[in-house]
Amino acid sequence: MKATSDFSISFEFFPPKSLEGKEKLSSTAARLAEVSPQFFSVTFGAGGSTREGTIETVSSLKVHTAIPVAPHLACIGASREEMAAMIRHYQTLGIQRLVALRGDLPSGMGQSGEFRYASELVEFIRETTGDHFHIEVAAYPEFHPQARNAPNDVLNLKKKIEAGANSAITQYFFNPDAYFNFLDYCAEFGVTLPIIPGIMPIAQFSKLQHFSNLCGAEIPRWISERFAAYADDPESARKFGFEVVHELCRQLIAGGAPGLHFYTLNHDEICLELLRELDLPSRTGEISRLKVL
Ligand code: FAD
Repeated sequence: MKATSDFSISFEFFPPKSLEGKEKLSSTAARLAEVSPQFFSVTFGAGGSTREGTIETVSSLKVHTAIPVAPHLACIGASREEMAAMIRHYQTLGIQRLVALRGDLPSGMGQSGEFRYASELVEFIRETTGDHFHIEVAAYPEFHPQARNAPNDVLNLKKKIEAGANSAITQYFFNPDAYFNFLDYCAEFGVTLPIIPGIMPIAQFSKLQHFSNLCGAEIPRWISERFAAYADDPESARKFGFEVVHELCRQLIAGGAPGLHFYTLNHDEICLELLRELDLPSRTGEISRLKVL
């Protein structure tokens, strides 16, 4: 598969808590809006921990930028009524895209909700709102840590598609082969919807290591070892992190990935630097224009 003119760029944010965080996100989003991404997405704390923050961030992005916004919805621990209220609210706001997830409940929180899996949320969204929303779901090139086995995980992704999902965004990974093998493996199961690679720019390696242990994303040994060698040299560590992610994106684009979804952690600098350096399939003049800025 070769990259097409439909190549999509999207950026993910989390809802900031402090006033300072909110102001920073406004300027981050304004800068990222200049590359005309297909959408911005906003995470949601499973169990409802960020419900108000997610809604507020979605509304603010909608008012202050012209970029479509895709709220994440995580259904674990939630009632059908709670999910229905949020979905209705987003419909009223004019939202047309959702990222439908199961989520992971914070430890100690009981699992008293009415949904067990993301496929049930997708089904519920379709039941209640028909074709109104474009629905994204999560996919795992290195397989979800709780999956019974690899084929089962892909069959579970297939259930989300059969329930009505339109496309998928992956967990981040650093080995492009993991992504391309996953696409081939999915095709064996008849899963052919667009699967957009999720890209995690490396800002702070220690934080990335911690988070990767939690979510089951593999950091190849050669990458960890190189970062260990730069423990006292933050500038070399930054450059190396940039090269790793740049090369990953380059290979993904060359291999025909349909787009890139950036986990921005509410920062724009590395994303913009990556986009400037990459030979992107020309989707809009905006990204090409970045190259000369
Ligand atoms: P599911 O698709 O339900 O899968 C979860 C597990 O259950 C998998 O192991 C799957 O194989 C298995 N499974 C699925 N269906 C069945 C079935 N019928 N029978 C048996 N097993 C089954 N988390 C948040 O809390 N908030 C966010 O905003 C958020 N955003 C994310 C965005 C992206 C792009 C990604 C990749 C992840 C995101 N996550 C988020 C993390 C995600 O919620 C977790 O990875 C969670 O553990 C799984 O969610 P899921 O939607 O993939 O679940």
